[in-house]
Amino acid sequence: MANRLDLENSTHDVIVIGGGPSGSSCGYWLAKSGWDTVVLEKKQFPREKTCGDGLTPRSVKQLEDMGLGTDLGSYHRYEGLRAVAFNRELELKWPKADDLQTYGYCVTRYDLDYMVASQAVKYGALLRQKSQAESLIFEENSDKVIGVNVLGPDGNRYQLYSKVVVIADGANSRIGRSIGISRDRSYPLGLAIRGYFYSPKHDDPFIESHLDIRDEEGSVMPGYGWIFPLGDGRVNVGAGLLNTSNRWKGYNTSKLMDAFVAQISGRWKLTTDSAIAEPTGGKLPMGLTVGPRVGKGWMIVGDAGGSINPFNGEGIAYAYETGRLASTVIDEALRLYDEVSTEQFNSILRKYNMILEDNYRDYYRVASIFVEAISRPKLLKFLISNGMRSKTIMEWVLRVMANLVREEDKGFVEYALSAAEYAARVFKPNLPQTLVDSPNSLKIQSLTS
Ligand SMILES: Cc1cc2nc3c(=O)[nH]c(=O)nc-3n(C[C@H](O)[C@H](O)[C@H](O)COP(=O)(O)OP(=O)(O)OC[C@H]3O[C@@H](n4cnc5c(N)ncnc54)[C@H](O)[C@@H]3O)c2cc1C
Repeated sequence: MANRLDLENSTHDVIVIGGGPSGSSCGYWLAKSGWDTVVLEKKQFPREKTCGDGLTPRSVKQLEDMGLGTDLGSYHRYEGLRAVAFNRELELKWPKADDLQTYGYCVTRYDLDYMVASQAVKYGALLRQKSQAESLIFEENSDKVIGVNVLGPDGNRYQLYSKVVVIADGANSRIGRSIGISRDRSYPLGLAIRGYFYSPKHDDPFIESHLDIRDEEGSVMPGYGWIFPLGDGRVNVGAGLLNTSNRWKGYNTSKLMDAFVAQISGRWKLTTDSAIAEPTGGKLPMGLTVGPRVGKGWMIVGDAGGSINPFNGEGIAYAYETGRLASTVIDEALRLYDEVSTEQFNSILRKYNMILEDNYRDYYRVASIFVEAISRPKLLKFLISNGMRSKTIMEWVLRVMANLVREEDKGFVEYALSAAEYAARVFKPNLPQTLVDSPNSLKIQSLTS
């Protein structure tokens, strides 16, 4: 990979902070459009990243659009989801959804992130590894971002300047917080943990989700456990939950993981020697509840902007998508850079906010209702145990939760979601009006190229 040494104090079109899915996708699309783009990554690829390693058809679409379809072919391809709960199981194939494939892949982030970052480099992005963004640089007496203070590989500190800085530094987003970005704490946060295990079932054609994970008192929790087969002798086993109430805030996910591994070890033929390393966990900021998302000379993408889907905890697809959406707005602004005032330039950047709203607002608003509904253990148990009696219902649930609803299905889905919203209102009459004020224009489709 490129590692130019004459970078110190140089000026570029765009600096992207973070080389994960959101930063590398943004870097790829910008470099492909011909912009001088530097991606700063504090680690050295390939590197581990705590994740379930599950790619849905939405992620596959973004990776194919970045020219990585063939590379994906050497990894474990799977056909759908096996839902397990209350002694029932259903195999649900990925449904057909317009321009998306009907399969997904399981790829470790160790390989995946290296692959996408390399693709960004192949198209001209300059990837600076072991390079940590320490802080943003502001124009004198202004809140306009004009660059980044960097701690380089040899402990050397230097400045980089650019017309736009993209913040893609993940769920903890230290840089985001430094500029005043915060998460809406009234909305739940996801917590998840995962570990790798050897299993003879490592090449199962279905990923598996257990929807009836329980706490020590036997209450069903708002979350799920998963086994994602990697096809290389290993499976990724994990569990995640939404901290929908005080009861789940600060819940010990290691305990949850231990209980879940004990629950599935027979099915997946795990023994005491199967564990490969200590499980690790992380946070899942969801529903685009982090903001502001754009300011003078900067914007925020991926987990740093809370783009994870609250229905299923999927974040990779949305990291690729938000990185790409940001790149389209930056591309437009940079094309006009010499012709417009700074104010006009920043107002073009602000279009990013509208584009995010257009693409996700309605879907994530419905997700809020879902989150509200599943925060009640009795209702949750009722919904899952009844849903699991019908394959047709669960196929629809999968379509909605994975954001794979087709144009022609929207009428039906809106009807079903209105019913769900009604149910949620019965359980919580004071649900904020903003969650439900216009459930009639769902935009649930994938981004096209
Ligand atoms: C346990 C767990 C399981 C999950 N399972 C799945 C799953 O199966 N499927 C799915 O779709 N999603 C899953 N997710 C969510 C998914 O991991 C995230 O949504 C995704 O990683 C977001 O990508 P990102 O680029 O925004 O952030 P990240 O992947 O976190 O990338 C941020 C990058 O920025 C770098 N960085 C940070 N700070 C700096 C700095 N100051 N300077 C330079 N570089 C910096 C980091 O080293 C990192 O490489 C899971 C999450 C967890 C915690």
